[in-house]
Amino acid sequence: MNNSEHFIALEDKYGAHNYHPLPVVLSKGKGIYVWDADGKKYFDFLSAYSAVNQGHCHPKIIDALQEQSEILTLTSRAFYNDTLGEYEKYITNYFGYDKILPMNTGAEGVETALKLCRKWSYQKKGLKPEQAKIIVCDGNFHGRTTTIISFSNDHESRNEFGPYTPGFINIPYNDLIALEDALKDENVAGFMVEPIQGEAGVNVPSEGYLSSAYKMCKKANVLFIADEVQTGIARTGKLLAVDHENIKADILILGKALSGGVFPVSAVLADDNIMMCIKPGEHGSTFGGNPLANKVAIAALDVVKNENLAANAEKLGEILRKELREINSDMISLVRGKGLLNAIVIKPKNGKEAWDVCLKLRDNGLLAKPTHGDIIRFAPPLIISEKQLHECIKIIKNTILSFD
Ligand SMILES: *Cc1c(COP(=O)(O)O)cnc(C)c1O
Repeated sequence: MNNSEHFIALEDKYGAHNYHPLPVVLSKGKGIYVWDADGKKYFDFLSAYSAVNQGHCHPKIIDALQEQSEILTLTSRAFYNDTLGEYEKYITNYFGYDKILPMNTGAEGVETALKLCRKWSYQKKGLKPEQAKIIVCDGNFHGRTTTIISFSNDHESRNEFGPYTPGFINIPYNDLIALEDALKDENVAGFMVEPIQGEAGVNVPSEGYLSSAYKMCKKANVLFIADEVQTGIARTGKLLAVDHENIKADILILGKALSGGVFPVSAVLADDNIMMCIKPGEHGSTFGGNPLANKVAIAALDVVKNENLAANAEKLGEILRKELREINSDMISLVRGKGLLNAIVIKPKNGKEAWDVCLKLRDNGLLAKPTHGDIIRFAPPLIISEKQLHECIKIIKNTILSFD
C-alpha cells in the first residue's frame, strides 16, 4: 500500500461517507500547486471551490494568521475585541456597505441573509407576522443547512431530510418572466440569487438578467440578495460578479475566498436601513468576528487588490475559454464561464465520462472535479500566470484528445 491508499482507507473506515472524492490524497499546497502524499505535484484547478483564489498558503495571509494566533484568537462577542472594528471598517469600505455581520461558513452567511431579509420585511415593508416569502432559483446551491436544502431542487441534497422550512418560492434561473410573476405576491420579501450558479455547473445567465432582476426587485420593494460565496472576491474577473452589471445587492453574502482558504470566514453586508433590523441578542455566532478571522480576512482582501487578481482572472479567463473551444474533440460539447470560473460539458465517448477525464487529468498532473455527472469545472487560483495557464491548457488538451 502506498501512502495515498493508506489515507484513503482511513477516511473510508472512520469518516462518514457523505463525500465521493476523486482518489488523490493531498498533503501540501503552495500557490497554484498541490502535492499528494506520495510527492506528486499537481495544478489545482478547483481551488477548493474558489476558496483559494489567492493561492495555497499565501505568505501574507499565513503571516497574519501566525501573528494573531499568538496574541488572541477568540473572545466570543460577549466582549469587544481590538480587531473586529478595524476589520468591519476595512471590509465595509472595500465593498461599499454601511455594515457587516461576520459569520464563519457560507451556509451561515446565507442563513443570516435570510433572517435579516425576514426581519426587514416585518419592520420596514410591513408584512404580517410569519408571512414573508423569499424567491430562489431552481438549480441553486446555497449550502447544507435544513432551511437551505428546503429550497434546493437537487434530489440528493434534500431527499429524506424533511420536514422542510416553508416560506420560499422556487422559479427557474435566468427567467425574468417567472420572476416578474413571482414578484406579484405581496408577501415577497426578497430574491436570493447566485450571479453565476457555480455548483449547478457554472451556469452563466444571459447578459442583463441580474440588472433587470434588480430593477424589478426595486420596483416591488423586494430585497435583492446576492450569494457571492463562490463568485465573489475576483473569481469572475471583477471584485464581485454583480459588478459586471453595475448593480449593488441590498444584501451581499461572502465566504470561501474571504479567508483565502485558510479557515471558514463568511460575511453578510448591507446598509443601515436593513442591517439595523437585527437587534442585540437576536442573532450571532461564537466564532463569528473572531480576532484570527478578522486579521486573516483583511490580509486575504489586501492580496486580492495588491495582486490585481480580478484583472488577471478577467484576462486569463478569456484565454482559457478561447483555447478550450479550439480543442478539436467531440467530447467537449460546451465551454462556458466568466473570469476564471469555467466549465466544460463532456459528451461521453466509448463509455468514458467526465469522471474518467478527471482521473486522466489527475494522472497528467491537473486536478479538477466533475459535477452533475457530465460537467468539469476549471477554476485555478487567480494568481496563475499566463505561462502556467498555457501549460495547463496543454495538459487538458492532451488528456481530452487521448480519448479519441
Ligand atoms: C459553497 C457555497 C455556499 C456554502 O458555503 P459553505 O462554506 O460550504 O457553507 C453557499 N453558497 C454558494 C454559492 C456556495 O458556492
